[in-house]
Amino acid sequence: MTIARRELLTAGAAGLAAAALPAWAHGLAAVTAPINPFTLGVAAGDPQTDGFVIWTRLAPDPLAADGRGGLAGAVEVRWEVATDEAMRGVVSRGRAAADDRFAHSVHVEVGGLAPGRPYWYRFTAQGHASPIGRARTAPVGGVDRLKVTMASCSHWELGWFSGYRHMTAEDPDLVLFLGDYIYEYSYRGERAKDKVVRRHDREADIVDLAGYRNRYALYRTDPDLQALHAAAPCLMTWDDHEVQNDYSNRWSQDPKVSEAAFLARRAAAYRAFYEHMPLRPRSRPQGPDMRIYDRLSFGDLVDFTVLDGRQYRSMQPCPLPDSRRGHVAPDSCPDLADPKRTMLGAAQERWLYDGFKRGRGRWTLMAQDLLVASLQQTGKDGTLGHFTDGWDGYQANRSRMLSALAASGARNPVFLGGDIHSFWATDLKADFCNPASCTVATEFVGTAIAQDPPPKGAFDDAQARNPHVKFVDVTTNGYVTLDISPARIETRFQALSDKRDPQASVRTLQKFTVEDGRPGVNLA
Ligand code: CA
Repeated sequence: MTIARRELLTAGAAGLAAAALPAWAHGLAAVTAPINPFTLGVAAGDPQTDGFVIWTRLAPDPLAADGRGGLAGAVEVRWEVATDEAMRGVVSRGRAAADDRFAHSVHVEVGGLAPGRPYWYRFTAQGHASPIGRARTAPVGGVDRLKVTMASCSHWELGWFSGYRHMTAEDPDLVLFLGDYIYEYSYRGERAKDKVVRRHDREADIVDLAGYRNRYALYRTDPDLQALHAAAPCLMTWDDHEVQNDYSNRWSQDPKVSEAAFLARRAAAYRAFYEHMPLRPRSRPQGPDMRIYDRLSFGDLVDFTVLDGRQYRSMQPCPLPDSRRGHVAPDSCPDLADPKRTMLGAAQERWLYDGFKRGRGRWTLMAQDLLVASLQQTGKDGTLGHFTDGWDGYQANRSRMLSALAASGARNPVFLGGDIHSFWATDLKADFCNPASCTVATEFVGTAIAQDPPPKGAFDDAQARNPHVKFVDVTTNGYVTLDISPARIETRFQALSDKRDPQASVRTLQKFTVEDGRPGVNLA
């Protein structure tokens, strides 16, 4: 079945020839169901010069308690790709089988398309048609412009997804989801008071496959998020809340949870991530392991690298006795600069540094989850030091990464991140302790779509203590847009009027430029 399924999923390259279905799947198409199974929309990802991956998941009852979406058994799904939004000029079509194993999700690798142009796609199953999605193949050769918009930290309960609606209106070529796409915990009791605008599907933390499936399904019922996915292909990485707050690798933030128990939870979370994202079948999880780091190019303009900052990392430095959650550790913590510790893991580090040497694009963009810049800060207990859950907890890895970047000749590196519920623009220095040292790369970090900003006063001293921080705003929600051309990147920090308002407006809080050949942030 694995081979037959693989043939099915790759049959798009054969153009109009319908794919051969495995024997067991014949006759499935005849079934017409009373309820439309396309409740979760469609999505496209990983745009290449000849195609992309298209996704949907059939779920007539998307929040069914067992996590099966109201379906059992195999269902035939037909898909088609056209050159126009009315779906008249169909240039590729095929059939795929959706079954229980991956929650009736479908990940079709479409190939054989022309580079650098838009296409439209849709699915049909059980007598119903999905919404029509739009994707764009990557261009070849000379590229004048690419528009990218990026988001992170979207707690369903704490705000409406107006930011996603405004991102769609920007008409981007590519959307980056940089982590905390879902949240595993809910607000309840006093914590929820005056805070929650809508409720999660359940109050208890999600820990099993049904729980994670239904959390993704809930988020995907949001019309603003569905519209964004239908409008443009995306690249995505994860941060902690796709599994559990501040987890590292095989360690729960709760030291009482065994590694085996936590890996079972991680396996469920990663599997649900795969089932709901437009990832290629090669990303299918194997138990608790799933590779999402990747790279792709947009002609000669941009080389994108997608990093995984969670799965392979060492445990956070100097953990507190009762919890492994992130905290501000004093600089006397010996782990902080330990060269044996890693954020990315040895294999991903090697892969990354090799990629720096091989990159050919004008701009080298890193899509990852966390603030990269060093940030000396004051903890809740008054401790002056560095936060252990971010790159500051993995300083040796950061130094190796920035050194490898500087030595590689990769052009115009820019790091993009999220996680911190606030806007940051920084110069990434060869030596953060020496403001006069050279700037190796530029960094933009986006705020939350729908998480609360840090408490008032937090980071008030950030720029005074960290002169490489060129801009910080800890008061607003929103997203980031980058207009990329050969000469420069123009970045906009887009601020929402109020995440609690479903009709929230957006304004530009600050503009920046990065000039070709001159690393560092310029306020515009
Ligand atoms: Ca996070």
